[in-house]
Amino acid sequence: MRSVFLYCGMLVFTLLALVPQNTLAGSPPPQTETKPFILPFDSPPGPVTWLLGQMYGNTTGAYGNRRNFYAAGQGLHFGLDFSAACGTPIVAIGDGVVIGADGPWGSAPHNLLINHANGWMSMYGHLLEKPKLKAGERVQQGQPVALSGDPDATCHSRPHLHLEIRDAKNTKFVNPINLIAADWDTLALFGQFGRGFERDLDNPRQWQTLYDQPDGLRGAPLLNEYAKPWPPAFDFR
Ligand SMILES: [Zn+2]
Repeated sequence: MRSVFLYCGMLVFTLLALVPQNTLAGSPPPQTETKPFILPFDSPPGPVTWLLGQMYGNTTGAYGNRRNFYAAGQGLHFGLDFSAACGTPIVAIGDGVVIGADGPWGSAPHNLLINHANGWMSMYGHLLEKPKLKAGERVQQGQPVALSGDPDATCHSRPHLHLEIRDAKNTKFVNPINLIAADWDTLALFGQFGRGFERDLDNPRQWQTLYDQPDGLRGAPLLNEYAKPWPPAFDFR
């Protein structure tokens, strides 16, 4: 009998030892996740540098344009927008090789595509001018590669950088915040020119946070053709 008590005591002790101490204390687990990329600016965020303008994913802005601008990405805003004055320097988010400038990748008037060795490509859009980099040129993480511009080429209507992360086959768009190291929760507090995420009133909790947005497959059907959308009015048919 004594050996049974001893055995049970050892078992409890072993199980307790397996539970992380911070779980017992009620604090969140440590952030051990590492993300391969950095922000596309070497300046800190702020009103005279840049602010996060629109999230990736099922945004109200993408929903309203799901049948035109964003049809190729399943009705999602398939990148991140950063509000910035024209001419703000943009840096490479990771080491890579330039695929090209001003290619058929969208986001007029100028764009840049960089291939990274980790299976991802980054696309920088609405640039002020055609980047000077040539196809095949190597770039380092943090190296200035382009200047931000305005899709309307006015520099006062809606100047911003549109940044996409695509897979190496150029068929899938993913949420950049899951691959770029930054304090996204704080960045999302300021500067947004959208109204958050479009809501499906038949499934109202789906895709409503920064982190749970779906991947987009090029040319696949729309993901947000809702019978009961909210807000309902912002819809160009
Ligand atoms: Zn955009």
